[in-house]
Amino acid sequence: MSFRIHTLHLGDLMVPWPHAVIKEPIHCWYVTDGTTGILVDSGMPDPGDMKRRLNVDSVGGGPDSLIAALRHVGAKTDDVHKVVLTHMHFDHAWNLELFPNAQVIVQRDELIHAIDPVPTQRLYYLRETLAEVLGRRRPKGLLLVDGDTELVPGFELMKVPGHTPGIQAAIISTARGKVALVSDCGDNYANWYPTDPNVNPTPMRYLGSDFLPGAIRSESERVYGDSMRRILSRADIVVPAHDTRIPRAIPEEWFAKPPAGSAAHS
Ligand SMILES: [Zn+2]
Repeated sequence: MSFRIHTLHLGDLMVPWPHAVIKEPIHCWYVTDGTTGILVDSGMPDPGDMKRRLNVDSVGGGPDSLIAALRHVGAKTDDVHKVVLTHMHFDHAWNLELFPNAQVIVQRDELIHAIDPVPTQRLYYLRETLAEVLGRRRPKGLLLVDGDTELVPGFELMKVPGHTPGIQAAIISTARGKVALVSDCGDNYANWYPTDPNVNPTPMRYLGSDFLPGAIRSESERVYGDSMRRILSRADIVVPAHDTRIPRAIPEEWFAKPPAGSAAHS
């Protein structure tokens, strides 16, 4: 089975850093073989909710942004039969009320972590998300999975602990090969290709062939790095969640790494 993957850009977070505000794009993905519609992640709250709940400025987000993004690729909320949550952070698992008849799929360990996160991640888990997931009818409305599994032919889930204990990547067969939607398991190309000056404006050559795990992590750097290595052993291309350079349509705009000269954003 072969799928097409549409990147939905829902909005941007304005993340305050000590000397700058970094614009962080928020994405989710509509994946379809023409019959089954699978949404990978469901986006973030609107700017009012973001300010109230996390005190962060943002643009876009909320249910309207997701409805509009789906419409832009020719889909409606009713076309979404399954919603894969890579993990339950606020910017990946909001807007679930738009899909009352879809099945939500999440790793069991992620659900447990959403109830009792590591202390530094408490603010990333919104209680409404937990209530929405737990309130769904089972098994029709909620499927809990343990580890790697094939969701449907050509669409696999891979548990990749690091960013959170129960984060999962989607490994999807397309006309050009296997695509890994890695979510926040390395949320930027610089995490995957840290020594490449075309990708990372400050190449970290001492890393050699190793990866640069993200800074937000519940597990050790070694566990995180092992998850990234495992993904690349199974996929031909990785698509990180928060990079501005990711292809909008796969396989049509396929590239395994961002094109040379596109390293302005990191
Ligand atoms: Zn996250």
